[in-house]
Amino acid sequence: MSLNAQLESSYAVLMQQTDKLTGAFIQQKIYKAGFDQRSDKTINLLEKLDLHIKSDITYDVFCELLKDEDIAFYQRLFEERLVVPDFAGFCESIQEIYSQLQLDQKGKLPTYIPELKKVDPDQFAIAACTVDGQQFHIGDYKSRFCMQSMIKPVLYALALEENGIHYVHKHVGREPSGRNFNELTLNDEGLPHNPMINAGAIMSCAMIKKRLSPAGRFKHITNALSDLSNSHKITFNNAVYNSEKETADRNYALGYFMREHKAFPKDADLHRTLNLYFQACSIEVNSEILAIIAASFANAGTNPITQKEVFKPETIKNCLSLMYSCGMYDYSGEWAFSIGLPAKSGVSGGIYVVIPDVMGICIYSPRLDKLGNSARGIEVCKRLVERYNVHNYDSILRCPNKISLTG
Ligand code: GLU
Repeated sequence: MSLNAQLESSYAVLMQQTDKLTGAFIQQKIYKAGFDQRSDKTINLLEKLDLHIKSDITYDVFCELLKDEDIAFYQRLFEERLVVPDFAGFCESIQEIYSQLQLDQKGKLPTYIPELKKVDPDQFAIAACTVDGQQFHIGDYKSRFCMQSMIKPVLYALALEENGIHYVHKHVGREPSGRNFNELTLNDEGLPHNPMINAGAIMSCAMIKKRLSPAGRFKHITNALSDLSNSHKITFNNAVYNSEKETADRNYALGYFMREHKAFPKDADLHRTLNLYFQACSIEVNSEILAIIAASFANAGTNPITQKEVFKPETIKNCLSLMYSCGMYDYSGEWAFSIGLPAKSGVSGGIYVVIPDVMGICIYSPRLDKLGNSARGIEVCKRLVERYNVHNYDSILRCPNKISLTG
């Protein structure tokens, strides 16, 4: 479709929706689709529309306003053809689930990293971002928490991009371990079972930018997070880092155990590797940021807001496969069975879920269940999957009683 045809069609569709096309009408349309003044995707047009709040928008003004904008994107927005067409309905569902669970206090704060038990246990946030950049968040979505195990898919993706699949899997397996996330165990070949448990993530760290300084390697990880989330607010929690390092006997033991089995690449330095792992776990984000990271995963490695390709689709495919089978600690099998989506949780109380080609969702609620997953986070996901046909195999059932997220 030519640019003119796209403009004409967009204008015509808006004119059908109202008797008087004003700047305010178009702004409302954009807000309802899941964008606000903070969204980089729509900030320019929303600002330009401020000058036309009450005035009639003629076709000429419309063309002028959309000059330099992504017309194809706005055409889909105005025609209600973004990936989640009924975004307002989705937001209502999330709001409802949020209120149902607001008083839920099941679970306990973790104690094995002392600093992690100092957070306010009642914090609760849900954030979502679609592959078109539509965003919604509710609750404590600005509250910061450490990535902890949620950094593991990113570490694996970085190791894959740099070294390729064959090299990486000479050093780490891809089977669920069926054991606790920090169990002192390796597979039959003397390798960590998969990159989603501690031993495997330590191994990923050993393969990331070995020739750079410790600072350079850490920066390499935070740069990836900034690119995945379009945020410069990736911070580091030094108290958690120190607390974790002081109490990391098990991770040191895993490191030595792997070294004894000659699992590491030849030039890996054990102490630098472990340090990088502790630092990576202590990187802080909030739910809003983590939902965008998950959306970049859902969007095959390309940030849906900036359109920057951070990881190759092949990398994301491998990463999602392992998140699907191994991402939720010892609940991974049950999770794949009942939720049916790739996800990763961390002991800080976050979970991010990837609905491929649709959206990323992050839930933050620090009380954990017995297996180390956010108790309320799991409950949110169960309710979402009950309502929407997002389980990997829902398509087989054609689930008439479930809502289709994508219309
Ligand atoms: N840094 C934590 C550890 O190594 C990660 C725990 C987690 O979130 O699973 O024990």
